[in-house]
Amino acid sequence: MKILVLNCGSSSLKYQLIDMGNEDALAKGLVERIGIEGSRIVHEAAGKDKFTLETAMQSHSEAIGHVMDALTDSEHGVIRSMDEINAVGHRVVHGGEKFAASVIIDDKVKEAIVECAELAPLHNPPNLTGIKAAEELMPGKPQVAVFDTAFHQTMPDKAYMYAIPMDLYRKYKIRRYGFHGTSHRYVSEMAAGLLGRPVTGLKMVTCHLGNGASVCAIDGGVSVDTSMGFTPLEGLIMGTRSGDIDPAVVQFVMDKEGVDAKGAIDILNKKSGVLGISGVSSDFRDIEDAASKGNAQASLALESFCYRVAKYVGGYAAAMNGVDAVVFTAGLGENGKLVREKICGYLGYLGLEADLEKNNVRGKLVDFGTPGSKVRPLIVPTNEELVIARDTKALLVKKS
Ligand code: AMP
Repeated sequence: MKILVLNCGSSSLKYQLIDMGNEDALAKGLVERIGIEGSRIVHEAAGKDKFTLETAMQSHSEAIGHVMDALTDSEHGVIRSMDEINAVGHRVVHGGEKFAASVIIDDKVKEAIVECAELAPLHNPPNLTGIKAAEELMPGKPQVAVFDTAFHQTMPDKAYMYAIPMDLYRKYKIRRYGFHGTSHRYVSEMAAGLLGRPVTGLKMVTCHLGNGASVCAIDGGVSVDTSMGFTPLEGLIMGTRSGDIDPAVVQFVMDKEGVDAKGAIDILNKKSGVLGISGVSSDFRDIEDAASKGNAQASLALESFCYRVAKYVGGYAAAMNGVDAVVFTAGLGENGKLVREKICGYLGYLGLEADLEKNNVRGKLVDFGTPGSKVRPLIVPTNEELVIARDTKALLVKKS
C-alpha cells in the first residue's frame, strides 16, 4: 500500500509518498510560493538526485498537479501512475472539539473543517484547499484528515478551560486545544518502545521544540495537558512567538505603539520569542553562535527559553504526580544539545541526570540518562508524516 501525505500551507505544500510495506518514504518534497512570483517545487526521491523546477503555480491544484508529475516522472519519479497510490492523508491543523481522531473525509468532515477555520484562520483554509484540489485531481481516491488538535481532546476540563465567563466558552468554544498532537503522540509511543514498557504504564513529558514549540503531559498514553492553547501562541517561548504573556500587554502595546489588536498580536506572533529577545534571529543555531561570541541578548534568549521549558516540565510532573521520561523532539529538541543540557540542568530535583557524553548526538533515538537517572531523558526524532500515513492506512483497512 502506498500513501501520499499532504501538508498544505497558505503558499506552500509539503508532501511525502510512503510505502506502507516497510514504512519507507519513497519520495518527498516541498512546493513553495504557490500563487506568488517565483514558485518552485523541490523533489527528492530515494536513491535519486534532488531536482528543482521553477515554474508558475497559481493554485494548490496546480501545485498538486506538479507533485503528481514529479512522482510519475520517468527520471525523477518513483511510481508509473497515480493509480499505484491507495489514498491521500492530509494534515489538518484544527479539528476543534469535533475530532478526537483521524477521519475519512466526506462532505460533513469538510463542513466541520470550515467551521473550525475561525479557530485557525491561517491554517484550516489552505488545508481544505489542498483536500479539494486532491479530490479534484484524484477522483474516487480515499482522503483522510489527521488533526493536530485531536490527540489533546483527552485533556480534562480543568486543564483545557480558561478562567473566563463560562458563557464565552459555551458561545464561542474559547478554550485550550493544543497543537503538535501528531508529534506528541508519535514520540510518546516511540519512547515507550525505547524504554521497553507499555505506553499505558508511563508518565511522560514530551517537548516538541522547533520553530513552533510545545510541551505535553502524557499519562498512560493520553494527553492530559499541553502548553499551546486556543491558538499556537500560548505556552513556551518560540522562534518568533512570545508564548505565555499577560493579556493586558496587548492593550498596552496598542495604546503605546498606535497599532490595532491585529497589529499587537502580530508583534507577539512574528516579532517576539527568541527573535524578539535576542534581536539576532529566530534560529537557535544563530542564537547559540551569537551567545558564544558574548552577545548578552542572545544568551538571555537562550536562558529564557530553557527556563520556560523547565518550568513546564516541573508543572506537568506535578500535574501527573510523577514523571518517568522527558522526551525531546523536533528540530531543536533533536539537534540542540546545549538546549537539552540546560533544560536537564533544572530537573535534578526530579531525579533526572543527563549523561553529557550521550547527549552529544543529533537526531538519534537515544536515552541519554546516566544509569542511575530515575527519570529517563530521551531524544526521539519525530515523524508526523508517518503518523498521518499510518492513520490513513488504518482507516482504509477498517473500511474494507
Ligand atoms: P523545526 O521547526 O522542527 O524544523 O525546528 C527548527 C529549529 O530547530 C530552528 O530554530 C533551528 O535552529 C533548530 N535547529 C536545527 N538544527 C539545530 C542544531 N544543530 N542546533 C541547534 N538548533 C538547531
